[in-house]
Amino acid sequence: LFITLEGGDGVGKSTQAALLEQWLAGRGRTVVRTREPGGTDAGVEIREIVLHHRGDIAPRAEALLYAADRAHHVATVVRPALERGDVVLQDRYIDSSVAYQGAGRVLDADQVRELSLWATEGLLPDLTILLDLDETSARARLDSSRTRYDRLEAERSDFHARVRAAYLALAEAEPGRFLVVDASQPVDVIAADIRRRLEDRV
Ligand code: C5P
Repeated sequence: LFITLEGGDGVGKSTQAALLEQWLAGRGRTVVRTREPGGTDAGVEIREIVLHHRGDIAPRAEALLYAADRAHHVATVVRPALERGDVVLQDRYIDSSVAYQGAGRVLDADQVRELSLWATEGLLPDLTILLDLDETSARARLDSSRTRYDRLEAERSDFHARVRAAYLALAEAEPGRFLVVDASQPVDVIAADIRRRLEDRV
């Protein structure tokens, strides 16, 4: 079972991942909790380049770096875990690339998706949990916890709105794969929503 968590910065993905991991473990499932970018040693180095490189990285190069991270991660961590029958619970995946690299509007969303499908040999999640939060709440949460606005795009005021719209469009296109949750609800309400969706699958 391959589950991904998606959403903008500060929506509470890590909190929900931790709660879901506990619940799955309580049901006797072995959970591999991982993330992108940076779910492998090579991925950590790629993450460093893509998030902290001084100066701009050309949009296509950036998309390829995310795809390279994902290709290596899927080949060495995700597929082996799925083959063992483990649950893979992953923070960010293909939809992050489509939403972020696509929402920059420099790259075509379909091409970003195709690139990612090539990189992963077509691996899609069984369930994608989209934690949806409006721009103002998301920013307020981030400001009160940590500062992550180290990318120029993230500072452009409309960037998060575009990312959010891109995510919602993805969810609308694939309702069977997505669970969209209103992330402004209390943590335990969100967790219960997620568990309900997974109840009959684990
Ligand atoms: O959530 P995490 O800390 O892993 O994400 C770091 C940042 O990487 C995100 O805020 C987002 O700006 C960027 N990102 C991206 N494209 C991806 C994945 C992450 O632009 N495919």
